[in-house]
Amino acid sequence: MSGIQARLNAISAVINYKPSHAPLNFHDTKPTDIFGANVFSERVMKERLPKAVYKSLSKTISLGSKLDPSIADVVANTMKDWAIEKGATHFTHVFYPLTGMTAEKHDAFLVPDGKGGAIAEFSGKLLIQGEPDASSFPSGGLRSTFEARGYTAWDVTSPAYILENPNGTFLCIPTAFVSWTGEALDKKTPLLRSNQSLNKQAKRVLKLFGVETTLPVTSFAGPEQEYFLIDRNFVFSRPDLLIAGRTLFGAKSAKGQEFEDQYFGVVPRRVLSFMMEVERELFKLGVPVKTRHNEVAPSQFEIAPIYEQGNLATDHNQMVMTTMRSVAKRYGMICLLHEKPFAGINGSGKHLNYSIGNAELGSLYDPGETPHDNAQFLVFCAAAIRALHKYGALLRATVATASNDHRLGANEAPPAIMSMYLGEQLADVFDQIKKGKLKDSKTKGVMSIGVDTLPPLPMDPGDRNRTSPFAFTGNRFEFRAVGSAQSIAGSLVALNTMMSESLDYIATEIEAATKGDAKKLNAAVQTVLQKIMQDHDAIIFNGDGYCDAWHKEAAKRGLPNLKTTPEALPVLTTKPVVELFTKYGVLTEAELKSREEIYFEMYSKTLKTEANLVVRMATTIIFPAAMRYQSELAAACANLKAIGQDFKMGALEDVTAKLRAMQAAVAKLEKLMAVEAKSTHAEAKHLCEKVLPAMNEVRSYADALEAVVADDLWALPSYQEMLFIR
Ligand code: ADP
Ligand code: MG
Repeated sequence: MSGIQARLNAISAVINYKPSHAPLNFHDTKPTDIFGANVFSERVMKERLPKAVYKSLSKTISLGSKLDPSIADVVANTMKDWAIEKGATHFTHVFYPLTGMTAEKHDAFLVPDGKGGAIAEFSGKLLIQGEPDASSFPSGGLRSTFEARGYTAWDVTSPAYILENPNGTFLCIPTAFVSWTGEALDKKTPLLRSNQSLNKQAKRVLKLFGVETTLPVTSFAGPEQEYFLIDRNFVFSRPDLLIAGRTLFGAKSAKGQEFEDQYFGVVPRRVLSFMMEVERELFKLGVPVKTRHNEVAPSQFEIAPIYEQGNLATDHNQMVMTTMRSVAKRYGMICLLHEKPFAGINGSGKHLNYSIGNAELGSLYDPGETPHDNAQFLVFCAAAIRALHKYGALLRATVATASNDHRLGANEAPPAIMSMYLGEQLADVFDQIKKGKLKDSKTKGVMSIGVDTLPPLPMDPGDRNRTSPFAFTGNRFEFRAVGSAQSIAGSLVALNTMMSESLDYIATEIEAATKGDAKKLNAAVQTVLQKIMQDHDAIIFNGDGYCDAWHKEAAKRGLPNLKTTPEALPVLTTKPVVELFTKYGVLTEAELKSREEIYFEMYSKTLKTEANLVVRMATTIIFPAAMRYQSELAAACANLKAIGQDFKMGALEDVTAKLRAMQAAVAKLEKLMAVEAKSTHAEAKHLCEKVLPAMNEVRSYADALEAVVADDLWALPSYQEMLFIR
């Protein structure tokens, strides 16, 4: 079915929507019973594993020590029994290829016993290592076809879990995905490596402050996830939403977000039902989702978890995205994670709250209360300042995708210029440090690091400076440029490694200055902090990141402004970045090159698909509608003439002109699409600089036609319908 009928059917389906399944029975199950019910957690391990095995495994998990392979068989067997009790027939190694998606391949536990029956089997070998036929995942040249197979390796630190389907369940084992030669083919491997280097360098600094901790120092992440929900029936009448996840056409709705009546408003009933089921599913998987609310744009919402260890938070965020996508369908809706599904209203991001520390120490970005704590805090904070100034472009490159390009730098998300917001008081403290005269803002006396306490720093509620890409919010930093559809792994890897390098620098400087004499610590800290501020304070900016004046000022300060993905991605293989990642053992030059290559390819594939869609939709949906209207107008003119009225119709001229302009724009776009590029880079650049503007030109005429063509001829659901009919 096509044309206006599909659109009318969609609207009627929304209006007549009835839930297809029974409501959740929330009376009989307490949330506390549900939480973690499907996780092979430490508690389950403690209950079911032999004591010695549990102890050994628990040590590997909490301390990051090496896994003892001799325990694998026992763990596998216990895991299998637990899974089968929960109805599982299959297991899968879950991995995270560079597409940013979650990948899984299922294997049955059952094997024939040779006597006509079957037994359930699962060995340590199968638990520890898998060999998915993953040759079609991108490797960016890391694998040649004769060694196409990569292997998956069990990540002990992220617990196994059960996923449910109405027809059965299966066991999921989080894994890293590497080539036979040991190169990372995924998002997880470098994240685990970067946590290790962060631990090593952070501990060197802590040691100088006399702080001992048995646990590893690691990254913590709390990703706030934004998304859109619209009725599924609209999507079936919109090839652009179905295929590209965003609208490539669509005139602005008469009402957008200007009334600000959506943000934190009452959540619509069907959406709330969806949220509750999502939360229940995620609770079962041990994902600590905490907040839910409406976002700024119509039909836009947010879900945020309680922060967790970076690696676990990354896996959990992938689960959040997968769960939302699948539960939405059950409620007749589609969950759009695209960064910019609708032009003219806000897009979706993923604020990544980031800190480092551990359960014993808390956040190392927490100022603390004593002068000693304050000094230590200033050191970790200065490390972040130096890191962002040195490697801001790298962090920018980690959020470079075709879809996120639509969002960064528009007036809804931070610009592509990386800068740091510290808040007035902390910025003042660092300014004084730079000048070498640290004044206590309360007493006006001269303050000495490690001797006097900092003035109390207000805990930023998070919303106060939304225009900064990297904001200090009291005990963590909030990196606001991550795209809503992206894995947070890339940015975490960069942050951990950048922090490692700066902590290494600071530790080396202080070690040299104190030579083990604790009495010299405060003076050494003061010196290194002053040096950092003299060299790197250009990154600090507390003003409005959206205004033009900042763009000019940032250029003066020499801060890079990499506006598009093709501009940003080459940063991954620049000399300083290659040196950074190789020095800390996080990614080799070959691994970085392959990543750059894959991300370029993904960018180009996205744009090519969209360009094809633009041509197809303009030709087969928009042109016919406008032409029919043109004929109606022409017929009306002819009729008027026939009865002797000398009539010139402006509307007919207008539609005709717009139609012609659209056709010319389509022809121009097709010509540009046919241009052959010499390299992946050249292709991406061509798509970005030539094809994308040509797509937008086609759209501008199509949207202008939407505003004049008779509504009963227009086949595409409008922005108004998609965003406001729920
Ligand atoms: P806001 O909405 O003002 O940004 P929230 O308290 O909702 O503040 O926090 C947003 C996210 O930051 C949550 O996921 C929260 O768990 C996380 N978060 C809080 N403290 C830390 C921390 N020390 N490190 C990392 N993330 C944190
Ligand atoms: Mg926030």
